[in-house]
Amino acid sequence: MKKGINTICTHVGEIEDEVYKGAISPLYMSTSYAYEDVDIKRYPRYFNTPNQEALCKKIAALENAEAALIFGSGMAAISTSLLAFLRAGDHIVLQNQIYGGTHNLILEEFDKYGIAYSFTRGMEVSDFEAEIQENTKVVYIETPSNPLLQLTDIRGIAEIAKRNNMVSMIDNTFASPVNQNPLDFGIDIVIHSATKYMGGHSDICAGAVASSGVYMERIFQLAKNLGGSLSDYTVWLLERSLKTMGLRVRAQNENAQKLAEYLSAHKDVARVYYPGLKDHPQHELAKSQMHGFGGMLSFELKHAKKTPEFQNALRLVKSSMSLAGVESTLLSPAKTSHALLSAEERLQQGISDGLIRFSVGIEETEDLIADLEQALRSISQGKKALPV
Ligand SMILES: *Cc1c(COP(=O)(O)O)cnc(C)c1O
Repeated sequence: MKKGINTICTHVGEIEDEVYKGAISPLYMSTSYAYEDVDIKRYPRYFNTPNQEALCKKIAALENAEAALIFGSGMAAISTSLLAFLRAGDHIVLQNQIYGGTHNLILEEFDKYGIAYSFTRGMEVSDFEAEIQENTKVVYIETPSNPLLQLTDIRGIAEIAKRNNMVSMIDNTFASPVNQNPLDFGIDIVIHSATKYMGGHSDICAGAVASSGVYMERIFQLAKNLGGSLSDYTVWLLERSLKTMGLRVRAQNENAQKLAEYLSAHKDVARVYYPGLKDHPQHELAKSQMHGFGGMLSFELKHAKKTPEFQNALRLVKSSMSLAGVESTLLSPAKTSHALLSAEERLQQGISDGLIRFSVGIEETEDLIADLEQALRSISQGKKALPV
């Protein structure tokens, strides 16, 4: 029987401490291992130290994959996976709304390698089909998307990939393996920025890829040459973080759902974007491909100009970059992740200046609501107090 998520998180892959019988995996910091009488030459950049292997078993189990690899960052995982399946003359179709770093990798580097690319116009399966060319080798999606939490139909993408002989890849960071397992729907390769929910404490930078043994071998062959491996100390720390991932993410799901409902009902909030809301246009799709709706939501205030004032008025929820920590944080995409786009490009993508992206933490729901409530009240009182 397949083990449940918290059992996988706690136990799968752990290294038995045969010498001292300690409860956790020992940390092996060695960069040098004996080579006599062993087939496997162990070395950190070969991605096969004891702690790396242990962690990869856990990640593979979490994504129902045959194998996995961990990298020094999410971008190392993404760049290595893409370049393992693309060569000069090939073409890739990518979703229009993807992580800024991935977007930059494509725009700034792919011309040098002679790899052609198209971004879709929308996020429907037909938008992807429309961009397929004879030389298209890879299709790349990210769902839920950043920062508007729009969904891509995972089954539909896997199906057009199979029909057109393309390798399908997904950035599964926003959902985490707790809420979404794309390999179950026929996607070939699943990628995570482990800096986010896998790490979960805003203190680890790492990436992960999981897939079939055959595809992971191909990614490994490039990975060892590019050299983006993760230090064993961080590997060990990430293994520890993963033990509580199920608990953390489920608490974040619950908080996000309640906050989304609270914000939707608030008179000073114009819009809320959260796949768990019944009025999210893709709520049915969300139910069919996610086990939980995630800890990320976005919203717009009615008085968009008051957004900075609102952010300053919050006491518990800090404004900061990045996401997925146990602490709640929020940011303005127009001022941070999407600041390099022109105001027009942002509007085209539906990102208004008043949009706020909220990474919901594990604090008590009532405390988070109380903080939002006092900040919303303070800006609406501020409005009344202003001289006409
Ligand atoms: C952060 C992030 C990445 C990049 O990960 P790094 O660990 O910062 O390299 C990729 N995709 C998504 C969706 C992210 O949020």
